[in-house]
Amino acid sequence: MARESGGLIWMNGKLVPYEDAKIHVLSHVVHYGSSVFEGIRAYATPGGTAVFRLDRHVQRMLDSCKIARIACPYGYEDLMHAIRETVRANGGGACYIRPVVYRGFKTLGVNPTGVPIDVAIACLNWGKYLGKDALDHGISVRVASWHRQAPNTFPAMAKTGANYLNSQLIKLEAVADGYEEGIALDVWGYVAEGSGENIFLVRGETLYTPTIANAILPGVTRDCMFTLARDMGLEVREEQIPREMLYISDEVFFTGTAAEITPITQIDRIPVGTGAVGPVTRKLQNAFFEIVEGRGRDRHGWLFPVEPRGKVQRAAKKAR
Ligand code: PMP
Repeated sequence: MARESGGLIWMNGKLVPYEDAKIHVLSHVVHYGSSVFEGIRAYATPGGTAVFRLDRHVQRMLDSCKIARIACPYGYEDLMHAIRETVRANGGGACYIRPVVYRGFKTLGVNPTGVPIDVAIACLNWGKYLGKDALDHGISVRVASWHRQAPNTFPAMAKTGANYLNSQLIKLEAVADGYEEGIALDVWGYVAEGSGENIFLVRGETLYTPTIANAILPGVTRDCMFTLARDMGLEVREEQIPREMLYISDEVFFTGTAAEITPITQIDRIPVGTGAVGPVTRKLQNAFFEIVEGRGRDRHGWLFPVEPRGKVQRAAKKAR
């Protein structure tokens, strides 16, 4: 893929060239953020291209549609198939996949009744979201002045386009102030998440992460941490986390499809622990990459092969 994207984009069941994947400027989504979307990664493994936790992402997209009252014209199996078809049509290999369900073009009133619902799937060439250096050495973040949304305002559990003005404000503020990312607190002042990442704190043998009632997106990578930590005999607690816990934790890290497992080494210019990436973060990061890059056994069934089955098995056999 030559540009950020390129190749073919799946639109309402057809693969169209990148340049032709356009919508009308009066589409409902342009004005009101009426969309739900996903961010999914495909990894190049020795056994072929594999989409990471495709089932969870598709399910979350349909859950988001349900919350947003968007009747997605494609079901679970259709989307599972369409996403893999799009990756395949673009030549496979590592990529960031962006499916989006959006209210299209008919009338511009806020009431979306009768406005068509369209679906697109693109593959982007994103690489490491916060930089390779971020994964190795960690990042410096600030606590955002913007809070996450209050309960019963915008649905935090839905990955809707409209929610992402909040994320943009958090990110823009952090970058303008010389930080890589921001940590948003919820409306009560408890730790919530980054602009596009969940957050974990480590103290001793215990991991802490905010609950789904703290205005977070229930992250797929967050869910992986529960499993990998359990594999390592570490306890994970979903709790309300006061801001000051950030400053006295041994280790803090972000999780997300784009950010993967990114260590945080400084918060508000205060070093986290020793100020270097800690051993628990590194262990979880290594365990994660071992699975997604196909170097370890996919013991939790997280990889969804893109190539037809026979081909994947032959390639895997050759790699062994
Ligand atoms: N929170 C927000 C606001 C996000 O946009 C994301 C990225 N989808 C996450 C958390 C992490 O979720 P996941 O691990 O499913 O990518």
